[in-house]
Amino acid sequence: MASDVQMGGAAAAAETETFAFQAEINQLLSLIINTFYSNKEIFLRELISNSSDALDKIRFESLTDKSKLDAQPELFIRIVPDKANKTLSIIDSGVGMTKADLVNNLGTIARSGTKEFMEALQAGADVSMIGQFGVGFYSAYLVAEKVVVTTKHNDDEQYVWESQAGGSFTVTLDTSGERLGRGTKMTLHLKDDQLEYLEERRLKDLVKKHSEFISYPIYLWTDKTTEKEISDDEDEDDAAADKKEGDVEEVDDDESGKKKKKTKKVKEVSHEWAQINKQKPIWLRKPEEITKEEYASFYKSITNDWEDHLAVKHFSVEGQLEFKAVLFVPRRAPFDLFDTRKKMNNIKLYVRRVFIMDNCEELIPEWLGFVKGVVDSDDLPLNISRETLQQNKILKVIRKNLVKKCIELFFDIADNKEDYAKFYEAFSKNLKLGVHEDSQNRAKLADLLRYHSTKSGDDLTSLKDYVTRMKEGQKDIYYITGESKKAVENSPFLERLKKRGYEVLFMVDAIDEYAVGQLKEYDGKKLVSATKEGLKLDEETEEEKKRREEKKAAFEGLCKTIKDILGDKVEKVVVSDRIVDSPCCLVTGEYGWTANMERIMKAQALRDSSMGAYMSSKKTMEINPENGIMEELRKRAEADKNDKSVKDLVMLLFETALLTSGFSLEEPNTFAARIHRMLKLGLNIDDVGAEEEDADMPALEEEGAEESKMEEVD
Ligand code: ADP
Ligand code: MG
Repeated sequence: MASDVQMGGAAAAAETETFAFQAEINQLLSLIINTFYSNKEIFLRELISNSSDALDKIRFESLTDKSKLDAQPELFIRIVPDKANKTLSIIDSGVGMTKADLVNNLGTIARSGTKEFMEALQAGADVSMIGQFGVGFYSAYLVAEKVVVTTKHNDDEQYVWESQAGGSFTVTLDTSGERLGRGTKMTLHLKDDQLEYLEERRLKDLVKKHSEFISYPIYLWTDKTTEKEISDDEDEDDAAADKKEGDVEEVDDDESGKKKKKTKKVKEVSHEWAQINKQKPIWLRKPEEITKEEYASFYKSITNDWEDHLAVKHFSVEGQLEFKAVLFVPRRAPFDLFDTRKKMNNIKLYVRRVFIMDNCEELIPEWLGFVKGVVDSDDLPLNISRETLQQNKILKVIRKNLVKKCIELFFDIADNKEDYAKFYEAFSKNLKLGVHEDSQNRAKLADLLRYHSTKSGDDLTSLKDYVTRMKEGQKDIYYITGESKKAVENSPFLERLKKRGYEVLFMVDAIDEYAVGQLKEYDGKKLVSATKEGLKLDEETEEEKKRREEKKAAFEGLCKTIKDILGDKVEKVVVSDRIVDSPCCLVTGEYGWTANMERIMKAQALRDSSMGAYMSSKKTMEINPENGIMEELRKRAEADKNDKSVKDLVMLLFETALLTSGFSLEEPNTFAARIHRMLKLGLNIDDVGAEEEDADMPALEEEGAEESKMEEVD
């Protein structure tokens, strides 16, 4: 129906449809309009970057179908300041938008980053971050009170989108005479205090600063003033020809005293398109001739980042296969680093200078998804399609090389302690994911890992440094996994190891559990969990061994009693040789989940719950024969197997061990009730009634009383 209107004649008024902005976008707009930001200039970078994206898209489409360029063969970005109307227009011959695109992309469908960006803003983040959150277009409202978007897509008519924010926008079929052919024109009606963005100098500087490396020509509509002296008579003809505009000043040219006819000096203003970006791709230049600032500026132009990169690697591969690449590591992780809904598009793929795509999944593995940059291949076919990419051998080789170079780059960063700390904080999870997934580079990546340990203090230690500190006779590398450094550093599992002077690494990242499961060894030394079964500490003297055997024999009976009491709660009960101070601890099977893994898996709500049944930790209780409590327990159990206090104590020890070993309590109330009864016993409170209650039943009333007492103390 809309096209009927146009066919009926250009003058006929087209129907205007009004749409409401999606709620979050609307909030974002008010925030942009009503808050003071000093960095408004970034709007231009955002609009140019959108134009560049749109040009990339049409160029890519045209590789397989040349006719897509027919409506407008030239690929360009043009900037037109119009002082008379106080408008600034950014025009591109990119892919354009259909009517549906206009409605969806500019207002009704929220981007995942909208909310995050507002939160970031309110937390004091700079408005220049906007591009990273996928809502760059709206930055136009930093400087404009009204924005008009005229756009023509190959598959649709030309439409106009218009809005002064304020909750809604309109979309109208464009029946004006102006035809774009293909592409988009963004016209900003500037606020009165933002007219600086009509100045040529300012626009040139801005493009140089933020958009120099855009790979399409950016032209600025510039004024060119020339002065010309003409006679008065001539002038009349000229003016009639209407070829020029500008100020005319009268000059009385009769200094010589001679009576002469008048001449005029005329300032002729002509216009021309001046290209204002350089455009030679940075990756084609020699690395030694490129300054750090140029890399930074290029990095920002391809990433929308507002900060400089942390490190860069610029290289070319020659020989059987040739390609050039520039890879960057950012200073921070993006807000959605592990958001699996978002496809990573950080490496731009070019083929012989022509942009192909920026979300080629085959180019770089997921764990390197944070690395940004460009790759320009000489060997790939220009008309490569997504389908053929998947089996492409050249791409596989490029990928392998990129991984290698990235790892080199990380080692470069590691040369500077401060930089590496920053890098590690942001991307250690990626490295660990790499250890987990990349069997070929696993050993190399292990050298990039850093952990806190029983000996590292506030610093982190590498595995390499750990090895240099290993005690004589120490064969294995010990580690403990858990929720946090605090939770593991005083764990009972570490007691014997510490006493021996063996260093233990703290692996307190959820992903450590997965990574270490794959790594298994470093430098020929086994990585051994301090919390799993089968922890053997070597270099035991004959005497020690004898004593241990004796103790073992002495406590065999107690072990059996405890197992009888605990039943299925534990797999078995044994005498420990890893704990020194604590009465007991719970270890897990060498191949099953650790307590930490159990916690991680429980936290994954959508996990298939059948898995838990057989992976879930098979616990072995290890008891410490040197501990006074165990000695007393043994005596009581030997005296009377059915002693009620033995049962109670064993339950209590088990539950406490769950906690100190990093598990969670299934029934915290039962545990609390038991503790309360012990407290009363200790405080000599004769509460006969409560004593007669079933030990497994929590006494709710009492618990309430205890709680209020606790509050008083607080
Ligand atoms: P992003 O660029 O991160 O997608 P923006 O808010 O900058 O987010 O742009 C939103 C969307 O609007 C773009 O993804 C694109 O679909 C569309 N768009 C914006 N500018 C143009 C343009 N000049 N040509 C074609 N489409 C555009
Ligand atoms: Mg954008």
